Amino acid sequence: MDHQHYKTLMIDRLAELGVRVKHIDAELGIPKPADLEEQAIDIEDDEVLEHLGVAAQKEAFLLQQALKRIENGTYGICLECDEAISKERLDAVPYAPLCKSCARGE
Ligand SMILES: [Zn+2]
Repeated sequence: MDHQHYKTLMIDRLAELGVRVKHIDAELGIPKPADLEEQAIDIEDDEVLEHLGVAAQKEAFLLQQALKRIENGTYGICLECDEAISKERLDAVPYAPLCKSCARGE
């Protein structure tokens, strides 16, 4: 199965999140994708950053994990039950780590 479409979607989304991700990564010392290195950061208000940051960081983390799964060939396979995640679900949530039934069970 060709995941290029999802890969493009997720890389675009990561770029959108780039500013916040880069800043938070720097704080937490998490290695970041090279293509985010060039993103300028100019956020001075740490409280605002923190507020915006949590959701963005979580999404960026999931996106990065999903991109890793494309790299190693496990993208689209549920982490819980090893079943294929439906195309409908990946279209809705490209970085979904779990199939619909496992996600529901959380
Ligand atoms: Zn599952």
